[in-house]
Amino acid sequence: MKPPRFEYHAPSTVDETCALLASLEDAKVLAGGQSLMPLLNFRLARPAHLVVEDSELVARVCPLLSAATRLVAHRVIRNRGTLCGSIAHADPASELPAVLLALGGHVVARSKRGERKIEAGGLFAGVFETSIAPDELLVEAWFPKSPKPFAILEESRRHGDFALAGVVRAGDTLALFGVAPTPVLADAKDPSRGLQPSSDLEATPEFRLHLVRALTLKAFAA
Ligand SMILES: Cc1cc2nc3c(=O)[nH]c(=O)nc-3n(C[C@H](O)[C@H](O)[C@H](O)COP(=O)(O)OP(=O)(O)OC[C@H]3O[C@@H](n4cnc5c(N)ncnc54)[C@H](O)[C@@H]3O)c2cc1C
Repeated sequence: MKPPRFEYHAPSTVDETCALLASLEDAKVLAGGQSLMPLLNFRLARPAHLVVEDSELVARVCPLLSAATRLVAHRVIRNRGTLCGSIAHADPASELPAVLLALGGHVVARSKRGERKIEAGGLFAGVFETSIAPDELLVEAWFPKSPKPFAILEESRRHGDFALAGVVRAGDTLALFGVAPTPVLADAKDPSRGLQPSSDLEATPEFRLHLVRALTLKAFAA
């Protein structure tokens, strides 16, 4: 299918982008387009670019972020997709939002009204929902240094697919993804407590709960 008709604006600065977001009704930021374009094409429904996968600095300071990035889709998709786009998209099965949550990071959103910091704990509101306002542009994502030990483990049907369930360990902190409407913090001793994962063609809720328990054991066994 082809996307519905829309007017395309190509601002060249953050200020121009914020001015457009403030003046236009029903506008969307297009970053890498790897999530937004399929949504438009299916008729189910614009920039900050940051490449982190091969960065030596990121690998040294926040190896957890490097490891998580390699689990996102395939390289060809990652080369277009952006880190802020992944966070703003807030897919419950995404790796990077869970890493942000596990590390206690934050993002910076800018609009014509000014700039504000949003802690990871207050950012993810539901499936594909965040506390970023329609006129706001994510301009920064802050990932604190990875504590040791750290791990990110997930199970997916095929390499590059979204995870059926996944766990992020940052020191003693555990965050889960793919098992709730948002990434969630959990108790490593009883990681599946209170979870009600969804059922779909890929996995039953029980299987997702089993995966969370097994992956947590593995992440904390090291
Ligand atoms: C086959 C396939 C497999 C994939 N597998 C995975 C996977 O395993 N794990 C995973 O996490 N992702 C996966 N993805 C998604 C991919 O990583 C996306 O690129 C990413 O989620 C969105 O980034 P983007 O830059 O392409 O955003 P876009 O698609 O351009 O935008 C996504 C949403 O975020 C908003 N947005 C984008 N940037 C900003 C900003 N700076 N400020 C405010 N709002 C903004 C847009 O308006 C839109 O609503 C997959 C995608 C494909 C096509």
